[in-house]
Amino acid sequence: MFVGHYAAAFALKAKEKDASLAMLFIATQFVDILFFPFAVMGIEKLRFVEGFTAVNNFDMYFYPYTHGLLGSIVWASVFYWLYYAFLAKGKPSRKNIAIVMALGVLSHWFTDLIVHTPDLPIVSGDPKFGLGIWNNKIATYAVEALLLIGGLIYYLKRTKATTIRGQYISIFFVVFLLGINYLNLFVLPANEDIMSLTISALFFYFLFTGVAHWIDKQRA
Ligand SMILES: [Zn+2]
Repeated sequence: MFVGHYAAAFALKAKEKDASLAMLFIATQFVDILFFPFAVMGIEKLRFVEGFTAVNNFDMYFYPYTHGLLGSIVWASVFYWLYYAFLAKGKPSRKNIAIVMALGVLSHWFTDLIVHTPDLPIVSGDPKFGLGIWNNKIATYAVEALLLIGGLIYYLKRTKATTIRGQYISIFFVVFLLGINYLNLFVLPANEDIMSLTISALFFYFLFTGVAHWIDKQRA
């Protein structure tokens, strides 16, 4: 899953307004931000198999540290601790901020579960889980779009624009995310090179995070 992960970021921001939307963008995508460099370094394993799913050609046959349920819980705990002990220290809502950050990290596994073919382990190795929506391109696009729009609606309901821009900018941003995902799924050729895949994934994750930071300032 790609842009659909940000549904959780918007929803968690709506739950805890003192949490940074940009950091929630990092949190919800955190295990992927680790996965790509791990795959480049050979710590986790990805091979390209022509037609592996309708959506992409990735066979992620070994990635327990980032995409095992246990691994996800460990990373979520790290986020909780970082926020509770340091980053949100002194704020009255520090516990809630730490909780939504941890939930953001953990949400990645459960949203991946919807689309991945059974490749998500609990610890490492079998059994592996995935509902396999990646076998259908249109369904994949629709699921991500519905999640993201749902997250956005909840966010718009529970936050208020503080600038004129703030009234519509997050809607434009979600339209932009859906446009990027359209290009990703339907237009651009499949990527077969782990290095360029990593660079483009990280580029987009950080670009989106930057926009989220800017949007965050327009709403309260
Ligand atoms: Zn993932």
